[in-house]
Amino acid sequence: MHIFSDILQIQNHLFKLKSERTIIGLVPTMGALHEGHSSLIKKSKLENDFTVVSIFVNPTQFDDSNDLLTYPSDIDNDINLLKSISDDIILFNPDSHEIYSGEIKSDHFNLNGLDKHMEGEYRLNHFQGVATVVNKLLSIVIPDNIYFGEKDFQQLRIIENLVSEKKLKTKVVRCETFRYADGLALSSRNNKLSFSSKKIATNLFKALNFAKEKFNTLDTFEIEKKVMEYLSSFPEIKLEYFVIADEETLETPILKENHKYRAFIAANVSGVRLIDNIKLY
Ligand code: AMP
Repeated sequence: MHIFSDILQIQNHLFKLKSERTIIGLVPTMGALHEGHSSLIKKSKLENDFTVVSIFVNPTQFDDSNDLLTYPSDIDNDINLLKSISDDIILFNPDSHEIYSGEIKSDHFNLNGLDKHMEGEYRLNHFQGVATVVNKLLSIVIPDNIYFGEKDFQQLRIIENLVSEKKLKTKVVRCETFRYADGLALSSRNNKLSFSSKKIATNLFKALNFAKEKFNTLDTFEIEKKVMEYLSSFPEIKLEYFVIADEETLETPILKENHKYRAFIAANVSGVRLIDNIKLY
């Protein structure tokens, strides 16, 4: 496996590969890799000649310094997991100074209002930070394809918007959410949950499924009200939001013909902030 922490070195390596007309896939991650990440990496391996996985805990997307400090990280484990997938993955694992030469701060992007809802309301400047780092990774790797999980659907839409605003040739590939058998979406943050809290967290998926079941028969307001009532019966769950929104604009709907909708949820479960969503079609 090739491991780079230096921008010029990875660019030199990729330059040689690209001169052989190879197709490059990029999977950006913040490490603490799990099977959800693996599913993106395996998809990229199938669809590209070479796959670059980046591991970088991006400081500018954290509005809470404690969240950044306690974000799980285990590079040796990550390398072992990558090796178990394939020996020819290219790992890019830079530090903050390599990515942000000079001041560690976000650039400003036109996110066309996609950052105004849900996560954007609860995590100030989060998406400007995400757009900043992904924009930097895109210009370092210049991939043919870049892979994002639907687990973070708002992030995915923001990257699709970024790529189209900048008229980049890179294709954004959507990847389905990878779940445990009980429905809990895999997340690096699950590492912070106890066994019993993980069980309680499955109620977020139950709430999303309830919305899916009732979407065609109940008013969206009624669904949201019932979900809030249900979740309020668990003292460990502090709901931040539960909304049904248009998949394209992320706006809460006045339902329209031929539009696709999703239910989105964010909650603190035993002090750990989790997000999830489900398509309603
Ligand atoms: P992260 O390391 O949390 O920044 O995630 C890196 C990428 O993996 C993002 O595109 C996430 O949406 C994706 N991802 C994280 N968890 C899952 C999951 N359970 N299923 C599918 N994709 C995921």
